[in-house]
Amino acid sequence: MTDAITFATPYDDSNIFAKILRGEIPSISVFENDDCLAFMDIMPQREGHTLVIPKRPAVTFLDIEPDSLANLIKHTQIVARAVQKAMNADGFSIVQLNGSKGGQTVPHIHFHILPGSILNAGAHGAIPSDPEHLAKVAEKIRNAF
Ligand code: AMP
Repeated sequence: MTDAITFATPYDDSNIFAKILRGEIPSISVFENDDCLAFMDIMPQREGHTLVIPKRPAVTFLDIEPDSLANLIKHTQIVARAVQKAMNADGFSIVQLNGSKGGQTVPHIHFHILPGSILNAGAHGAIPSDPEHLAKVAEKIRNAF
């Protein structure tokens, strides 16, 4: 067993989530602290679809330091609790895709929180939602922390 970790994937800081983190493009946030940001997916696969990202750059599950990953998962649990409560969801899905062949479209690691099941959710990253509607959903989630 070795402690060596290979941070293999070069990080491209022109990706859309890096731009959100730099404030260059807007997001509808539900949670933020020094480590993480959570915001509404603008092409939600289910009502309440929320993304949680670390502020430090990393592309995939294999590129992030274990302590940062643990912290990201801890925050994903905090946000999932609020999403579940706000959306009154019986169940929910946590999804995390890696690499373009793994279906990842934004190369900055993130967890998806989807009320209900991913198995019968809408298409991935396909249909933009009305921003005013998303803002209302986000407000419900913010009020559920
Ligand atoms: P993935 O394919 O796992 O990398 O997921 C990327 C997600 O980001 C998709 O569900 C997209 O709908 C979502 N997305 C893309 N651009 C934005 C954006 N500007 N703000 C919020 N979500 C976005």
